[in-house]
Amino acid sequence: MLGVRSPLVLAVALVACHSQRQPLPEETAHSEHFAYHSRPGDPLCAGTLAAAEAHLTSTLGYLRLDWPAGKKIDYYRYRDFEDITASSPCAQAHERCADASGGQGVVYTFLSLDQHELVHAYLAHVGFPNVIYAEGIADLFRCDSAAHARVSVQPSSWRRDLFSTKDGVWQSYPQASVLVRYLVERFGAERFLEAYARSKHGLGPDQFGAEFEQLFGTSLDEVWAEAGASRFASDVRAICACDGRELTTDGSDTPLTTCERDGTTEGVFTVSQPSLMFVEVASAFPLARNAPRACGTAQSPSPSFSVAGGNSGLRALTAAAMEPGRYYLAGVDELQLTGRDRDAPASCLTAPEYHAGPQHFYSTVTLPRPASGVSYFRFRFEAPQSLFFATAGIYVCPDCESAASPAQRCTPAAMASGAGKDVLGDLLLAVTPDADEASLTFNVAPCPPGCQGDRGKSGCPPYC
Ligand SMILES: [Zn+2]
Repeated sequence: MLGVRSPLVLAVALVACHSQRQPLPEETAHSEHFAYHSRPGDPLCAGTLAAAEAHLTSTLGYLRLDWPAGKKIDYYRYRDFEDITASSPCAQAHERCADASGGQGVVYTFLSLDQHELVHAYLAHVGFPNVIYAEGIADLFRCDSAAHARVSVQPSSWRRDLFSTKDGVWQSYPQASVLVRYLVERFGAERFLEAYARSKHGLGPDQFGAEFEQLFGTSLDEVWAEAGASRFASDVRAICACDGRELTTDGSDTPLTTCERDGTTEGVFTVSQPSLMFVEVASAFPLARNAPRACGTAQSPSPSFSVAGGNSGLRALTAAAMEPGRYYLAGVDELQLTGRDRDAPASCLTAPEYHAGPQHFYSTVTLPRPASGVSYFRFRFEAPQSLFFATAGIYVCPDCESAASPAQRCTPAAMASGAGKDVLGDLLLAVTPDADEASLTFNVAPCPPGCQGDRGKSGCPPYC
């Protein structure tokens, strides 16, 4: 993912791997600003070039950056991970890369539209700066990414935070994006780009700190402490042309915002504080963040957020503990999300409640484990349900008075026996910190009338 390398490293990589490497992807399609090269037989999605042009336009617009006349980005899309690993000029530690060292900007990737690497290419004619500025800005216009990791910053620790490496490879992507987002906010995009043009590639911490002071007229000690205390250290940092609405946490519904990307539709939403999100899912939705597209192969791996679909014509209700970030659901443009504040002061009397009618069932419910104290959740089931508790630390309480000390006065709901608990009507849960897992899970399934409380009865599902 590192987008810029020194010319020296590039030259070494080219020489070292030349004998085994396949030629560059050779099929070429053009748009005004892109030459898109792919492998024979690899589909170019109908919307890819238009989406690339839209990403360029929105990124340049935000940065108020002019485009050199006639400049075109060469975009090399490899067939898949194996292809790029074997054949691209990227240094071995980086599965995707851009060469921005020569001013022109060339992208090597296996993604059909690699927004992060494209930003390196867009800015190649501006300069070839320190990796901190280059990677920081590239991650800000990467709207295909998941939640931005929360960054904890110690004042005066920028030497460690911005220069961390693993096996000699620079690792401080989230920290760099926090710094750059803060710089753009405080000094403006124009001033940041001036610094981008003047910054020298490859400086170590001491020289980088001195250069920073020259470029911005203030010390990095001060700016890093401010950046770490800013909302960008824990909130959404990405700057996206199509932004989702923020998940409200007062129990009202948040609709998805429809965004077009790469010829398909996405439903986008953002989470700005740790939240408990309830989703109602109709049966046919294969929901997953970073789900493979209908067109193209080798899309972003590692889904980190998914919602299981329902079945049997019922509608599934799922609760998930959400970290701050920008999320999208591939191929889904309509869905109601209901958010609750996860970190609200715990009170049994005002506990979040969710209501499930007879046509509903919950699938998997994930509750955040409190760091201390007890948090409370209320559910109302209009139809019989069976609950299977997968983790310890959840208690079923008869009332709020008992719930004040759940470990003594409520029923532990651990799934030790593998048996479900039948519920109908109101259910009060107390969640305590005494579990190893960061979040606690239980599953809910409908139990037909006549089966409840009679496990194993002929004609009834086994969980009844
Ligand atoms: Zn990069």
